[in-house]
Amino acid sequence: MKTFFHLDMDAFFVSVEELFAPELKGKPVVVGGRPDERGVVSAASYAARKFGVHSAMPLRTAHKLCPQAIFVEGHMERYREYSHKVHEVLCGFTPLVEMASIDEAYLDITGTERLYGPPLRAAHLLHERVQAATKLNCSIGIAASRMVAKICSDQAKPNGVLMVMPGREAAFLGPLDVRRIPGVGKVSEKNLHALGIRKVRDLAARDETFLEEHFGKLGLALAGKAQGLDAGGWFDTEIGAEDGPKSISHEHTFTEDTADVAQLEATLAKLCEMVGRRLREHGLTAGTVQLKLRYTDFSTITRARTMERATALDTELLDEIRVLFRRNWKAGAAVRLLGVHVSGWSEEGTQMDLLDDPRHERWQRATAAADLMRDRFGDSAVSLAASLRGKFHERAHETPPGLPGKKKTGRPK
Ligand SMILES: [Mg+2]
Repeated sequence: MKTFFHLDMDAFFVSVEELFAPELKGKPVVVGGRPDERGVVSAASYAARKFGVHSAMPLRTAHKLCPQAIFVEGHMERYREYSHKVHEVLCGFTPLVEMASIDEAYLDITGTERLYGPPLRAAHLLHERVQAATKLNCSIGIAASRMVAKICSDQAKPNGVLMVMPGREAAFLGPLDVRRIPGVGKVSEKNLHALGIRKVRDLAARDETFLEEHFGKLGLALAGKAQGLDAGGWFDTEIGAEDGPKSISHEHTFTEDTADVAQLEATLAKLCEMVGRRLREHGLTAGTVQLKLRYTDFSTITRARTMERATALDTELLDEIRVLFRRNWKAGAAVRLLGVHVSGWSEEGTQMDLLDDPRHERWQRATAAADLMRDRFGDSAVSLAASLRGKFHERAHETPPGLPGKKKTGRPK
């Protein structure tokens, strides 16, 4: 029998903002941008949530629901710094730690009784350590599976600890809405409701062939999850055996639609920098780049290109993206959103032949130096010349670059 913790920071972005601006405490706060801007809410304080504001909601909607809210742009570098602090505390507690996003982690604490006592005591100790190191609150769920532990931490919020005793999973899960199950979003919820499945116990009552017929692989995973088991997606890999991200992307929505080619290309340069940096942080090189382009009328195209050789260099990504852009943009048509997406990895270091190319090597050295500057002074400290005009703040989003612990590879040396 295993024992897992799921530790989730409470209103993480907002709480970090409050550390630097205590006057925000207890007030409705929205992180993500100005109230009149396009783009979405990254995080909302508990006081703002009472008005119905939640993350991923358009900023303008949040403003309508809660006009008195304080809107802040957010400080990605601070969130990252505090995420690293949390990660450090967790790694000092047990070696089996997996960050699931910037502010939550799974810990396998099986066999730590002699060190920390029973799981509830261990959780309180860990809670104190996180609080001491960061001055931030978190909630911890404890269960025999990660799936149930995650649901527990959610039910324990804010600032609580909740444990489901082994064998009591069905009784705990049964009365919960299906939406509480990790992996069940709005769409799956609707489809489940259409079949009369509203509570987890309704799901548990259906046999897995029925669920597989209706939902395929997801259905099988749901059958397992309804029993309190780790099944499907995230849970198919052991803690510590995670193989890193499947793709990396960044997008930018313009405050005003633009057809200014210089501004569009500068924005692409900035996006390539952000994507390139994340590739290097994961120690990966990408074989495929994809451009996403959305016009004023919301019509959207994506065009991909497989590169001759995989790369993690901003300049080489940009060369490819520029080709895609120039080929596919309806010249003169105003653009609402641009995105750069990369996939098709190989681990870096397997391509020794690249060192033969002096241009590539020069860029590699320049990029490494720029990364060091960005680590010290923030992401806006250094830019490729081409991206200077495309400067925009890195928006806070759920899985930013530099997420600790989610990868085996670490930063390339
Ligand atoms: Mg959280």
